[in-house]
Parts: sequence; C-alpha cells; structure tokens
Amino acid sequence: MSLFDHDSIFIYILSEHNNGKYNLEYFLNRVNVFHRDKGKCKICAIYLNPGNFHCHHIDPSKPLNEINKTVNLISLCNQCHKLVHSNQEPPFTERKMINKLTEYRNKLKI
Ligand SMILES: [Zn+2]
Ligand SMILES: [Zn+2]
Repeated sequence: MSLFDHDSIFIYILSEHNNGKYNLEYFLNRVNVFHRDKGKCKICAIYLNPGNFHCHHIDPSKPLNEINKTVNLISLCNQCHKLVHSNQEPPFTERKMINKLTEYRNKLKI
C-alpha cells in the first residue's frame, strides 16, 4: 500500500484487516511519523521507502482515541517490525540496535 494512496487507505479502513486499531488518524499520522523519523527505521536505521515502511504501535493496548497519536507510532522496516512482534533471534549484534529491539518488545508486553 502506497503511503499517499488515499483510495487504498479508505478501502483498508473499511476492510476486514481492520482489527480496531486503525482509523483515519492512523493513516494521516503515518505520513507525519515517516517524516519525523526522517524516513529511517528506528531500530536498524536503514532508509525506508513505501514498500518497506511499517508504522508500528508502540503500545497497542491504548484506547482508540490515544493509540494513533504520533507519540505512540514509530517507523520500522519490514524486518525489524517482524522482529518486534516475535521472539526471533535478530540477525544483527550491534548493542544499540539490540537495546532498541528489546525496548519495543517490552513495551508490547505491558
Ligand atoms: Zn529496521
Ligand atoms: Zn507493530
């Protein structure tokens, strides 16, 4: 789904993939979050493009009126997003990246 493609955004909001976490605010803030994070993954810092840009909810247990605020959203690449949502061993060993990954994993479990 393209970052700025409004038709697919509305189709997505109305689709069965929407499990209650996504609303118009989420899709508008995705663009803000991408720019705030300077188009880079918050864990491994690779440059993102619309094809591998994921917008992750730091704390997905927040209510709908708070969950999609930009403070609760971060830019992640495809690989790091999968890692945050799993217990898989990361392919990198750099301490800074491991710490970030652990931080976001822990915030999911609160
Ligand atoms: Zn990454
Ligand atoms: Zn996520």
